[in-house]
Amino acid sequence: MTSHTKGPVIIVTGTPGTGKTTHSQLLAGESPVPLKHINIGQWAKERDLYESYDEEWQSHAVDEDRLLDELEPIVAEGGVILDWHTCELFPERWADLVVVLRCDHTELWNRLEKRAYPLKKIQENNQAEIMEVVLDEARSSYAAEIVVELKSEGTEDLESNVARIVQWINTWIKDSEKNSSQ
Ligand code: ADP
Repeated sequence: MTSHTKGPVIIVTGTPGTGKTTHSQLLAGESPVPLKHINIGQWAKERDLYESYDEEWQSHAVDEDRLLDELEPIVAEGGVILDWHTCELFPERWADLVVVLRCDHTELWNRLEKRAYPLKKIQENNQAEIMEVVLDEARSSYAAEIVVELKSEGTEDLESNVARIVQWINTWIKDSEKNSSQ
């Protein structure tokens, strides 16, 4: 467990389209402690942390060293949601909770089609979801007890997932108060 003072550090990860940003926004609004939602893709773009852009895949390659350097002081304070489609590059010591969102592949296909992704990118992401790539990555990068897999197929999932994370935050607050008074 880390010693973040402002609040926990929660990684929200999953294949593109599984609902990371939707969950992170709702969670930031409902959390009992202020949480700064960092959508890593956007954040890296705003800070020019991209090394290259692949036209064919319509995707950017981020400069990981610079990204981690810039995130480090923010994460050290705590009270952060890191929203990204990959998680293994974040140091294990950073994370208090790792939420992996999952979605049925047909539903995911529809969501990605609405984004007008190239077919190849839809296929690749769909395959990755079926193969549980992000879940495996999370499980091999963090302690089993902090990794939570949550279904994100409908609004009722969204609401119950966020309620569950809020409950987890309440426990985290109580535990940190206990630890700091000892
Ligand atoms: P990600 O950040 O993982 O790429 P988004 O949060 O942008 O995914 O969600 C992609 C699309 O799917 C959005 O239109 C969003 O409204 C929808 N969506 C995501 N999760 C759910 C859910 N649990 N229930 C209903 N719609 C969802």
